[in-house]
Amino acid sequence: MSKDHFETMAIHAGQAADRTTGAIMTPIYQTSTYVQDAVGKPRGYEYSRTGNPTRTALETCLAALEGGEYGLAFASGMAATDIVLRLLAPGDHVLAGNDVYGGTFRLFDKEFRRFGLTFSYIDTTDLEQVRQSLKPETRMVWLETPTNPLLNVTDISTVAGIAREHSLDSGDVGLGHPFLVVDNTFATPYLQQPLELGADIVLHSTTKYLGGHSDVVGGAVVTRHEAVYERLAFLQNAVGPVPGPLDCFLVLRGIKTLAVRMERHSSNAAAVAEFLSSHPRVQRCKYPFLQSHPQSEVARQQMKFGGGMLSFILKGGEQEARKVVESTRIFALAESLGGVESLIELPAAMTHASTSESALRVDPGLVRLSVGLEHIDDLIQDLKQALED
Ligand SMILES: *Cc1c(COP(=O)(O)O)cnc(C)c1O
Repeated sequence: MSKDHFETMAIHAGQAADRTTGAIMTPIYQTSTYVQDAVGKPRGYEYSRTGNPTRTALETCLAALEGGEYGLAFASGMAATDIVLRLLAPGDHVLAGNDVYGGTFRLFDKEFRRFGLTFSYIDTTDLEQVRQSLKPETRMVWLETPTNPLLNVTDISTVAGIAREHSLDSGDVGLGHPFLVVDNTFATPYLQQPLELGADIVLHSTTKYLGGHSDVVGGAVVTRHEAVYERLAFLQNAVGPVPGPLDCFLVLRGIKTLAVRMERHSSNAAAVAEFLSSHPRVQRCKYPFLQSHPQSEVARQQMKFGGGMLSFILKGGEQEARKVVESTRIFALAESLGGVESLIELPAAMTHASTSESALRVDPGLVRLSVGLEHIDDLIQDLKQALED
C-alpha cells in the first residue's frame, strides 16, 4: 500500500477485504492450527502462537500508523514491555523516567532487577540529567511522554540525539547505541510519532486509546530496525504472550476511529483543563497544551494536540480529592483510561499504588482524569458539582 494519510491507513492498512468471501471486516480467525498441503508445506501459517491472520492485520496496521516497518501485537502493554526488556542481558543498565507507569516500574524493580539488570530513574525532561546519567553499560533509555499520571513531557528528538551519541559495541542486534524506547500510550500515533523523532522502538498499551472502548487488554511494539524486529518476533513466539484473534479484531476496530476520537478527546480535555485551572479550589492542573505546563512548548512541537489525559491537585489535599472522585456522576471512578467514557481516579491509592514505597511515589492528593467523548457541557457541569459538594 502506498503511504496514505493517517485516517485512511487506520481504516485500510493490513485490512484488505477477505479473499474468499469479500468480508469487508477482517475475519476473527479463531483457530490454533492450520492445515498443511504437505509435510513442511504450510500455506503461510502453522500455529497461532507463531502467527494468526487477524493478528497479522493488526500488526501491519500498527506498523503503518507509527511510520515503522514492523509491528508486533501482545496480550497486554506489560507483556510488550516484558518482551522489549528481554533484548537486554544481565549487567545492562536501563535509564528510565522517574514517573513511568506504575506497572512498568513494578516489572523493572520487582522482576528484572532479580535477573541482573540495573535501573536509574531520572527526570527525563531535564536533558542535562539524561546526558549525565548514561553509563558505559546503559543499553536502553525508557521514555514515557506524556507521563502517567503527571503528564510530564520529554523532548523525544533531543533524547534520541543524546542516545545516538552514546556509542556501544554493537551487540547482537547491531544498533551501536542504547535502544531508545518510547511508551506512546498517552499520545497515540495520531498525536505523536516517536520513530520519526528518532526513537528505535515504540510501545503501546492498546488497552487504552488504540482499543478505545474499554473492552480489551492488549499491547504493541513497532520498530524500523529489521534486526530488532527479528529478535522481538523470536521472543514473541518463544515466550508466547500473544493476543487472541478476537482481541486483535477489537483493537483493529477501535483503531479505525482513532483520529476522530483523539481530536474530540483532546478538545474536551483542553476545555476541562481550562475550567479546572481557573477553579478556586484547584491548586494546580497539568495538561500538556496548557500555557502553564512547564513543557508546553515541547509538547506543541512534538504533539498534534494535547491528548485526553490530565491531572490536578486540590487545595484541600488528599481528603478533598477522595471526596471529589467519589462524587462525580458522569466521570466514573475506575482505573484505566482512553475509552469513550470519562474516568476519574486517585493514582496514589489506585493505579500507582505499587510506587508508594519508592522515589516514584505520587502526591496522595493528585486526581487523574481520562476525558471521554461525552458532551463537554455535561463533563464540566459534572466536575463543577463535584467540586462544590
Ligand atoms: C496501562 C499502561 C501500560 C500497561 O498496559 P496494560 O495493557 O495495562 O498491560 C503501560 N504504559 C502506560 C503508559 C499505560 O497507561
